[in-house]
Amino acid sequence: MSIRLIVILLLLWLARQAWRRLTQPEPPKKVATMVACATCGSYIADDRAASALFDGKRRHFCDTACLERYAKGERLDGPQG
Ligand SMILES: [Zn+2]
Repeated sequence: MSIRLIVILLLLWLARQAWRRLTQPEPPKKVATMVACATCGSYIADDRAASALFDGKRRHFCDTACLERYAKGERLDGPQG
């Protein structure tokens, strides 16, 4: 097998990979999970929620104002431990 043939096969393979990527339909979007805001308790899709780690646990918030209120200690679930 000549080098040229290998190169041509490689180019064909790469072209096929690129073509597949271009023509493949986008993967279905992940269904959003609803999470409760740790401060006010309202539900929001987790991909739109603000989140931060508190005491090693991830908390979700409907917006950054709720995140700030939570950080200041205004929590629905009260102080932990
Ligand atoms: Zn909130």
